[in-house]
Amino acid sequence: MNQDQGPRPTVVVIGGGYGGVAVARALDADVDVVLVEPKDSFVHNIGALRALVDPTFLPKIFLPYSALLAQGRVVRDRAVEVDAHRVVLASGEAITADYVVLATGSTYPFPAKSNAHDAEDAMDNYRAAYSELTHADRVLLVGAGPVGIELAGEILSKWPDKHVTLLDLADDVLGGNFRPDLRAELRQQLVDLGVELVLGVGLRQLPPTVSAEHATFTVTTNSGREITADIWFQCFGVTPVSDYLSGDLAVARQPDGFVTVGPALQVAGHDNVFAIGDCAACEWPEKKALGKLVRRKSFTFSGLRRSSKNMALVFADLDDGGDNAFVVVPADGELHISLCGGFELGVVDELACQCGV
Ligand SMILES: Cc1cc2nc3c(=O)[nH]c(=O)nc-3n(C[C@H](O)[C@H](O)[C@H](O)COP(=O)(O)OP(=O)(O)OC[C@H]3O[C@@H](n4cnc5c(N)ncnc54)[C@H](O)[C@@H]3O)c2cc1C
Repeated sequence: MNQDQGPRPTVVVIGGGYGGVAVARALDADVDVVLVEPKDSFVHNIGALRALVDPTFLPKIFLPYSALLAQGRVVRDRAVEVDAHRVVLASGEAITADYVVLATGSTYPFPAKSNAHDAEDAMDNYRAAYSELTHADRVLLVGAGPVGIELAGEILSKWPDKHVTLLDLADDVLGGNFRPDLRAELRQQLVDLGVELVLGVGLRQLPPTVSAEHATFTVTTNSGREITADIWFQCFGVTPVSDYLSGDLAVARQPDGFVTVGPALQVAGHDNVFAIGDCAACEWPEKKALGKLVRRKSFTFSGLRRSSKNMALVFADLDDGGDNAFVVVPADGELHISLCGGFELGVVDELACQCGV
Protein backbone atom coordinates (compact mmCIF):
# COMPACT_ATOMS: atom_id res chain seq x y z
CA MET A 1 0.00 0.00 0.00
CA ASN A 2 1.25 3.48 -0.84
CA GLN A 3 1.86 5.53 2.32
CA ASP A 4 0.49 8.63 0.57
CA GLN A 5 -2.91 7.03 0.39
CA GLY A 6 -3.43 7.38 4.12
CA PRO A 7 -2.74 5.40 7.26
CA ARG A 8 -1.96 1.74 6.91
CA PRO A 9 -4.85 -0.49 7.86
CA THR A 10 -4.50 -2.68 10.92
CA VAL A 11 -4.93 -6.37 10.18
CA VAL A 12 -5.37 -8.53 13.26
CA VAL A 13 -4.54 -12.14 12.54
CA ILE A 14 -5.86 -14.48 15.22
CA GLY A 15 -3.84 -17.66 15.46
CA GLY A 16 -0.23 -18.30 14.45
CA GLY A 17 -0.51 -21.72 12.82
CA TYR A 18 0.29 -22.39 9.16
CA GLY A 19 -2.49 -20.16 7.87
CA GLY A 20 -2.02 -17.24 10.27
CA VAL A 21 1.74 -17.17 9.88
CA ALA A 22 1.53 -17.13 6.09
CA VAL A 23 -0.99 -14.29 6.06
CA ALA A 24 0.94 -12.27 8.64
CA ARG A 25 4.20 -12.59 6.71
CA ALA A 26 2.64 -11.84 3.38
CA LEU A 27 1.10 -8.59 4.64
CA ASP A 28 3.85 -7.48 7.01
CA ALA A 29 5.48 -4.97 4.68
CA ASP A 30 2.26 -3.29 3.62
CA VAL A 31 -0.15 -3.11 6.53
CA ASP A 32 0.05 -3.01 10.33
CA VAL A 33 -0.08 -6.65 11.25
CA VAL A 34 -0.94 -7.80 14.76
CA LEU A 35 -0.66 -11.56 15.17
CA VAL A 36 -2.40 -12.88 18.29
CA GLU A 37 -1.18 -16.29 19.45
CA PRO A 38 -1.01 -17.80 22.96
CA LYS A 39 1.89 -20.13 22.15
CA ASP A 40 5.49 -18.95 22.29
CA SER A 41 6.38 -20.84 19.10
CA PHE A 42 4.95 -21.85 15.78
CA VAL A 43 4.29 -25.58 15.86
CA HIS A 44 5.29 -27.42 12.72
CA ASN A 45 2.47 -29.82 13.31
CA ILE A 46 2.98 -32.18 10.46
CA GLY A 47 6.21 -33.34 12.08
CA ALA A 48 4.60 -34.00 15.48
CA LEU A 49 4.26 -37.76 15.11
CA ARG A 50 7.82 -38.11 13.92
CA ALA A 51 8.90 -36.12 16.98
CA LEU A 52 6.95 -38.51 19.21
CA VAL A 53 9.07 -41.48 18.12
CA ASP A 54 12.28 -39.47 17.70
CA PRO A 55 12.61 -36.70 20.32
CA THR A 56 15.74 -35.36 18.59
CA PHE A 57 13.27 -34.06 16.00
CA LEU A 58 11.49 -31.87 18.59
CA PRO A 59 13.56 -28.68 18.16
CA LYS A 60 12.70 -28.77 14.46
CA ILE A 61 8.97 -28.48 15.05
CA PHE A 62 8.87 -25.64 17.60
CA LEU A 63 9.96 -22.43 15.90
CA PRO A 64 9.92 -19.16 17.91
CA TYR A 65 7.91 -16.28 16.47
CA SER A 66 10.69 -13.82 17.22
CA ALA A 67 11.94 -13.56 13.63
CA LEU A 68 8.55 -13.85 11.96
CA LEU A 69 7.61 -10.22 11.36
CA ALA A 70 9.87 -7.35 10.42
CA GLN A 71 7.33 -4.60 11.14
CA GLY A 72 4.25 -6.11 12.68
CA ARG A 73 3.96 -7.43 16.20
CA VAL A 74 3.17 -10.79 17.71
CA VAL A 75 1.01 -10.53 20.82
CA ARG A 76 1.28 -13.57 23.02
CA ASP A 77 -2.30 -13.86 24.20
CA ARG A 78 -5.59 -15.54 23.40
CA ALA A 79 -8.52 -13.85 21.69
CA VAL A 80 -11.61 -14.26 23.83
CA GLU A 81 -14.09 -11.98 22.09
CA VAL A 82 -13.92 -11.04 18.45
CA ASP A 83 -16.30 -8.96 16.39
CA ALA A 84 -15.78 -7.34 13.02
CA HIS A 85 -13.67 -4.43 14.32
CA ARG A 86 -12.50 -5.35 17.82
CA VAL A 87 -10.46 -8.16 19.26
CA VAL A 88 -10.50 -8.58 23.03
CA LEU A 89 -7.69 -10.64 24.55
CA ALA A 90 -7.66 -12.78 27.69
CA SER A 91 -5.45 -10.14 29.32
CA GLY A 92 -8.21 -7.59 28.84
CA GLU A 93 -6.42 -5.67 26.09
CA ALA A 94 -8.70 -4.67 23.20
CA ILE A 95 -7.28 -4.17 19.70
CA THR A 96 -9.16 -2.15 17.11
CA ALA A 97 -8.97 -3.79 13.69
CA ASP A 98 -9.66 -2.68 10.13
CA TYR A 99 -9.40 -6.29 8.99
CA VAL A 100 -9.63 -9.48 10.99
CA VAL A 101 -8.29 -12.85 9.91
CA LEU A 102 -9.60 -15.83 11.87
CA ALA A 103 -6.88 -18.49 11.72
CA THR A 104 -7.46 -20.35 14.96
CA GLY A 105 -7.42 -23.78 13.36
CA SER A 106 -8.52 -26.82 15.24
CA THR A 107 -7.68 -28.90 18.25
CA TYR A 108 -6.76 -32.58 18.09
CA PRO A 109 -5.81 -35.00 20.86
CA PHE A 110 -2.14 -35.27 21.79
CA PRO A 111 0.32 -36.27 20.35
CA ALA A 112 -0.95 -35.16 16.91
CA LYS A 113 -1.40 -31.69 18.39
CA SER A 114 -0.24 -30.19 21.65
CA ASN A 115 -2.15 -27.90 24.00
CA ALA A 116 0.91 -26.61 25.83
CA HIS A 117 1.58 -22.93 25.24
CA ASP A 118 5.28 -23.07 26.11
CA ALA A 119 7.48 -24.99 23.70
CA GLU A 120 9.54 -26.36 26.59
CA ASP A 121 6.43 -27.80 28.25
CA ALA A 122 5.25 -29.25 24.95
CA MET A 123 8.62 -30.88 24.32
CA ASP A 124 8.58 -32.34 27.85
CA ASN A 125 5.15 -33.85 27.09
CA TYR A 126 6.47 -35.43 23.89
CA ARG A 127 9.55 -36.78 25.65
CA ALA A 128 7.38 -38.27 28.40
CA ALA A 129 5.10 -39.93 25.85
CA TYR A 130 8.15 -41.25 24.01
CA SER A 131 9.40 -42.81 27.22
CA GLU A 132 5.99 -44.42 27.91
CA LEU A 133 5.77 -45.70 24.35
CA THR A 134 9.28 -47.13 24.49
CA HIS A 135 8.19 -49.53 27.24
CA ALA A 136 4.91 -50.60 25.65
CA ASP A 137 4.93 -53.75 23.51
CA ARG A 138 1.30 -53.57 22.38
CA VAL A 139 -0.14 -50.33 21.02
CA LEU A 140 -3.80 -49.63 20.26
CA LEU A 141 -4.57 -46.76 17.89
CA VAL A 142 -8.23 -45.79 17.96
CA GLY A 143 -9.00 -44.18 14.61
CA ALA A 144 -7.65 -45.26 11.22
CA GLY A 145 -7.76 -41.89 9.52
CA PRO A 146 -4.65 -40.02 8.36
CA VAL A 147 -3.34 -39.55 11.92
CA GLY A 148 -3.82 -43.18 12.96
CA ILE A 149 -2.22 -44.42 9.76
CA GLU A 150 0.70 -42.05 10.08
CA LEU A 151 1.24 -42.90 13.74
CA ALA A 152 1.20 -46.63 12.98
CA GLY A 153 3.88 -46.07 10.34
CA GLU A 154 6.00 -43.95 12.68
CA ILE A 155 5.84 -46.41 15.56
CA LEU A 156 6.80 -49.36 13.39
CA SER A 157 9.55 -47.48 11.60
CA LYS A 158 11.12 -46.92 15.02
CA TRP A 159 10.15 -50.18 16.74
CA PRO A 160 9.43 -52.85 14.09
CA ASP A 161 8.73 -55.46 16.78
CA LYS A 162 5.90 -53.67 18.55
CA HIS A 163 2.40 -54.98 17.96
CA VAL A 164 0.23 -52.17 16.62
CA THR A 165 -3.54 -52.54 16.34
CA LEU A 166 -5.34 -49.93 14.23
CA LEU A 167 -9.07 -49.89 14.92
CA ASP A 168 -11.87 -47.96 13.30
CA LEU A 169 -15.63 -48.04 13.17
CA ALA A 170 -15.42 -47.43 9.43
CA ASP A 171 -15.01 -50.35 7.05
CA ASP A 172 -11.83 -48.98 5.52
CA VAL A 173 -8.83 -46.84 6.38
CA LEU A 174 -8.49 -43.13 5.70
CA GLY A 175 -12.01 -41.68 6.00
CA GLY A 176 -13.86 -40.05 3.13
CA ASN A 177 -12.78 -38.43 -0.14
CA PHE A 178 -9.99 -40.74 -1.15
CA ARG A 179 -9.77 -43.16 -4.03
CA PRO A 180 -10.33 -46.86 -3.46
CA ASP A 181 -6.96 -47.74 -4.98
CA LEU A 182 -5.21 -45.41 -2.54
CA ARG A 183 -7.01 -47.03 0.36
CA ALA A 184 -6.07 -50.46 -0.95
CA GLU A 185 -2.44 -49.43 -1.28
CA LEU A 186 -2.37 -48.03 2.25
CA ARG A 187 -4.05 -51.13 3.65
CA GLN A 188 -1.41 -53.24 1.97
CA GLN A 189 1.44 -51.07 3.28
CA LEU A 190 0.02 -51.28 6.78
CA VAL A 191 -0.34 -55.05 6.61
CA ASP A 192 3.19 -55.32 5.22
CA LEU A 193 4.43 -53.35 8.21
CA GLY A 194 2.70 -55.82 10.51
CA VAL A 195 -0.18 -53.60 11.61
CA GLU A 196 -3.25 -55.49 12.76
CA LEU A 197 -6.27 -53.83 11.16
CA VAL A 198 -9.57 -54.03 13.03
CA LEU A 199 -12.05 -52.25 10.76
CA GLY A 200 -15.81 -51.87 10.73
CA VAL A 201 -16.09 -52.26 14.46
CA GLY A 202 -16.17 -49.83 17.38
CA LEU A 203 -15.29 -50.17 21.05
CA ARG A 204 -17.92 -50.58 23.74
CA GLN A 205 -15.90 -48.05 25.71
CA LEU A 206 -12.65 -46.23 25.22
CA PRO A 207 -9.74 -47.67 27.24
CA PRO A 208 -9.92 -46.89 30.97
CA THR A 209 -6.30 -45.70 31.07
CA VAL A 210 -4.96 -42.28 30.16
CA SER A 211 -4.03 -42.00 26.50
CA ALA A 212 -0.27 -41.89 25.78
CA GLU A 213 0.55 -43.46 29.17
CA HIS A 214 1.96 -46.95 29.63
CA ALA A 215 -0.67 -49.01 31.48
CA THR A 216 -1.97 -52.40 30.36
CA PHE A 217 -5.72 -52.60 29.72
CA THR A 218 -8.30 -54.72 27.91
CA VAL A 219 -11.13 -53.29 25.84
CA THR A 220 -14.04 -55.03 24.15
CA THR A 221 -15.26 -54.32 20.65
CA ASN A 222 -18.95 -54.08 19.79
CA SER A 223 -18.67 -57.56 18.32
CA GLY A 224 -17.40 -58.93 21.64
CA ARG A 225 -13.72 -59.32 20.79
CA GLU A 226 -11.25 -58.40 23.54
CA ILE A 227 -8.10 -56.41 22.74
CA THR A 228 -5.32 -56.06 25.30
CA ALA A 229 -2.66 -53.40 24.89
CA ASP A 230 -0.10 -51.50 26.96
CA ILE A 231 -0.72 -48.02 25.63
CA TRP A 232 -3.29 -46.33 23.40
CA PHE A 233 -3.61 -43.16 21.41
CA GLN A 234 -6.77 -41.35 20.35
CA CYS A 235 -6.51 -40.76 16.62
CA PHE A 236 -9.79 -39.01 15.98
CA GLY A 237 -11.44 -35.76 17.03
CA VAL A 238 -10.74 -32.61 15.01
CA THR A 239 -12.52 -29.70 16.69
CA PRO A 240 -12.51 -26.28 15.01
CA VAL A 241 -11.74 -23.34 17.31
CA SER A 242 -14.17 -20.44 16.95
CA ASP A 243 -15.76 -20.03 20.38
CA TYR A 244 -14.51 -16.44 20.65
CA LEU A 245 -16.80 -15.08 17.91
CA SER A 246 -19.12 -12.47 19.32
CA GLY A 247 -21.50 -9.71 18.28
CA ASP A 248 -22.62 -9.93 14.67
CA LEU A 249 -19.83 -12.42 13.89
CA ALA A 250 -21.36 -15.03 16.19
CA VAL A 251 -23.92 -16.05 13.55
CA ALA A 252 -21.08 -17.22 11.27
CA ARG A 253 -20.26 -19.96 13.76
CA GLN A 254 -21.93 -23.16 12.66
CA PRO A 255 -23.23 -25.68 15.23
CA ASP A 256 -20.17 -27.86 14.55
CA GLY A 257 -17.85 -24.90 15.22
CA PHE A 258 -16.72 -24.24 11.66
CA VAL A 259 -16.98 -20.65 10.42
CA THR A 260 -19.11 -20.00 7.36
CA VAL A 261 -17.19 -18.24 4.59
CA GLY A 262 -17.72 -17.31 0.96
CA PRO A 263 -15.50 -18.08 -2.03
CA ALA A 264 -12.96 -15.39 -1.05
CA LEU A 265 -12.94 -16.80 2.50
CA GLN A 266 -14.81 -13.78 3.79
CA VAL A 267 -17.22 -14.25 6.64
CA ALA A 268 -20.72 -13.70 5.33
CA GLY A 269 -21.82 -10.09 5.65
CA HIS A 270 -18.37 -8.80 6.60
CA ASP A 271 -16.04 -7.74 3.81
CA ASN A 272 -13.24 -7.09 6.32
CA VAL A 273 -13.32 -10.45 8.13
CA PHE A 274 -11.76 -13.63 6.76
CA ALA A 275 -11.59 -17.17 8.10
CA ILE A 276 -8.86 -19.48 6.81
CA GLY A 277 -7.49 -22.91 7.41
CA ASP A 278 -8.98 -25.57 9.63
CA CYS A 279 -11.54 -23.29 11.29
CA ALA A 280 -13.17 -22.29 7.98
CA ALA A 281 -16.08 -24.23 6.52
CA CYS A 282 -15.60 -24.21 2.76
CA GLU A 283 -18.02 -25.75 0.35
CA TRP A 284 -16.10 -25.60 -2.88
CA PRO A 285 -13.89 -28.31 -4.33
CA GLU A 286 -10.55 -26.70 -3.52
CA LYS A 287 -11.35 -26.27 0.14
CA LYS A 288 -8.89 -28.70 1.67
CA ALA A 289 -6.33 -29.29 -1.02
CA LEU A 290 -3.54 -26.92 -0.27
CA GLY A 291 -1.56 -28.22 -3.20
CA LYS A 292 -4.05 -26.91 -5.69
CA LEU A 293 -3.68 -23.45 -4.28
CA VAL A 294 0.04 -23.71 -3.94
CA ARG A 295 0.38 -24.57 -7.59
CA ARG A 296 -1.68 -21.56 -8.54
CA LYS A 297 -0.07 -19.21 -6.06
CA SER A 298 3.46 -20.34 -5.72
CA PHE A 299 4.57 -17.76 -3.16
CA THR A 300 2.58 -19.36 -0.42
CA PHE A 301 4.87 -22.09 0.65
CA SER A 302 8.18 -20.30 0.78
CA GLY A 303 7.84 -19.79 4.54
CA LEU A 304 7.37 -23.44 5.23
CA ARG A 305 10.24 -24.34 2.95
CA ARG A 306 12.51 -22.05 4.88
CA SER A 307 11.32 -23.12 8.28
CA SER A 308 12.83 -26.58 8.20
CA LYS A 309 15.56 -27.85 5.98
CA ASN A 310 14.17 -31.29 6.49
CA MET A 311 10.81 -30.68 4.94
CA ALA A 312 10.07 -31.25 1.30
CA LEU A 313 6.94 -31.01 -0.74
CA VAL A 314 5.61 -34.06 -2.40
CA PHE A 315 2.60 -34.05 -4.65
CA ALA A 316 0.56 -37.16 -5.04
CA ASP A 317 -2.40 -38.02 -7.15
CA LEU A 318 -4.99 -38.60 -4.48
CA ASP A 319 -8.44 -37.51 -5.40
CA ASP A 320 -11.11 -38.46 -7.86
CA GLY A 321 -10.98 -35.26 -9.87
CA GLY A 322 -7.52 -36.13 -11.15
CA ASP A 323 -5.97 -33.08 -9.52
CA ASN A 324 -3.03 -33.40 -7.22
CA ALA A 325 -3.63 -33.13 -3.53
CA PHE A 326 -0.98 -31.99 -1.16
CA VAL A 327 1.28 -34.18 0.84
CA VAL A 328 4.25 -33.09 2.87
CA VAL A 329 6.81 -35.37 4.42
CA PRO A 330 10.16 -34.87 6.10
CA ALA A 331 12.62 -35.32 3.27
CA ASP A 332 15.41 -36.86 5.25
CA GLY A 333 13.33 -39.37 7.10
CA GLU A 334 10.98 -42.14 6.31
CA LEU A 335 7.72 -40.69 7.42
CA HIS A 336 5.63 -43.42 6.00
CA ILE A 337 2.40 -41.70 5.25
CA SER A 338 1.42 -38.09 5.51
CA LEU A 339 -1.74 -36.97 3.89
CA CYS A 340 -3.51 -33.84 2.93
CA GLY A 341 -5.04 -31.81 5.71
CA GLY A 342 -6.78 -28.55 5.27
CA PHE A 343 -5.65 -25.03 4.98
CA GLU A 344 -6.08 -22.48 2.26
CA LEU A 345 -3.12 -20.19 1.95
CA GLY A 346 -4.46 -18.90 -1.34
CA VAL A 347 -6.45 -16.49 0.77
CA VAL A 348 -3.38 -14.29 1.02
CA ASP A 349 -3.92 -12.98 -2.47
CA GLU A 350 -7.58 -12.34 -1.79
CA LEU A 351 -6.83 -10.58 1.44
CA ALA A 352 -4.12 -8.48 -0.11
CA CYS A 353 -6.62 -7.39 -2.74
CA GLN A 354 -9.17 -6.47 -0.13
CA CYS A 355 -6.59 -4.42 1.73
CA GLY A 356 -5.67 -2.61 -1.45
CA VAL A 357 -2.06 -3.75 -1.32
C1 LIG B 1 -0.22 -35.13 12.86
C2 LIG B 1 -0.73 -34.24 11.75
C3 LIG B 1 -0.20 -34.34 10.49
C4 LIG B 1 -0.66 -33.53 9.46
N1 LIG B 1 -0.11 -33.65 8.21
C5 LIG B 1 -0.54 -32.86 7.22
C6 LIG B 1 0.02 -32.94 5.89
O1 LIG B 1 0.90 -33.75 5.66
N2 LIG B 1 -0.44 -32.10 4.94
C7 LIG B 1 -1.41 -31.17 5.20
O2 LIG B 1 -1.80 -30.42 4.31
N3 LIG B 1 -1.97 -31.07 6.43
C8 LIG B 1 -1.56 -31.89 7.44
N4 LIG B 1 -2.13 -31.79 8.68
C9 LIG B 1 -3.20 -30.83 8.90
C10 LIG B 1 -2.59 -29.46 9.15
O3 LIG B 1 -1.71 -29.52 10.25
C11 LIG B 1 -3.71 -28.47 9.45
O4 LIG B 1 -4.57 -28.45 8.34
C12 LIG B 1 -3.11 -27.11 9.71
O5 LIG B 1 -2.42 -27.14 10.94
C13 LIG B 1 -4.17 -26.04 9.77
O6 LIG B 1 -3.54 -24.81 9.95
P1 LIG B 1 -4.30 -23.62 10.64
O7 LIG B 1 -3.39 -22.44 10.55
O8 LIG B 1 -5.67 -23.49 10.11
O9 LIG B 1 -4.52 -24.03 12.18
P2 LIG B 1 -3.57 -24.57 13.31
O10 LIG B 1 -2.32 -25.14 12.76
O11 LIG B 1 -4.45 -25.40 14.17
O12 LIG B 1 -3.16 -23.26 14.09
C14 LIG B 1 -4.09 -22.50 14.82
C15 LIG B 1 -3.36 -21.60 15.78
O13 LIG B 1 -4.33 -20.75 16.41
C16 LIG B 1 -4.01 -20.60 17.78
N5 LIG B 1 -5.25 -20.25 18.50
C17 LIG B 1 -6.29 -21.06 18.80
N6 LIG B 1 -7.23 -20.38 19.46
C18 LIG B 1 -6.79 -19.10 19.57
C19 LIG B 1 -7.33 -17.92 20.16
N7 LIG B 1 -8.53 -17.90 20.77
N8 LIG B 1 -6.60 -16.78 20.08
C20 LIG B 1 -5.40 -16.76 19.44
N9 LIG B 1 -4.84 -17.87 18.88
C21 LIG B 1 -5.53 -19.02 18.95
C22 LIG B 1 -3.44 -21.96 18.17
O14 LIG B 1 -2.61 -21.86 19.32
C23 LIG B 1 -2.65 -22.34 16.91
O15 LIG B 1 -1.32 -21.92 16.99
C24 LIG B 1 -1.69 -32.59 9.72
C25 LIG B 1 -2.24 -32.49 11.01
C26 LIG B 1 -1.76 -33.29 12.03
C27 LIG B 1 -2.36 -33.15 13.40
